[in-house]
Amino acid sequence: MAEPTQTVNPPTIPQAVGIAWCAWHEAYSNTARPVRDTSGARLFACCSCRQAYDLAPLADQP
Ligand SMILES: [Zn+2]
Repeated sequence: MAEPTQTVNPPTIPQAVGIAWCAWHEAYSNTARPVRDTSGARLFACCSCRQAYDLAPLADQP
């Protein structure tokens, strides 16, 4: 059995997936990332709102 010579690169986590709804300023943003709000719900927050409300993106948490 021949092994494939091509190796598949592991998928990288996209930093900006595209446009998502920011639940904090209630508008679409292309910098929105999933975060947890104070109730534990998963919502999207844009870059400025994450800085303004001190929100950590879920992807950056362990
Ligand atoms: Zn926002």
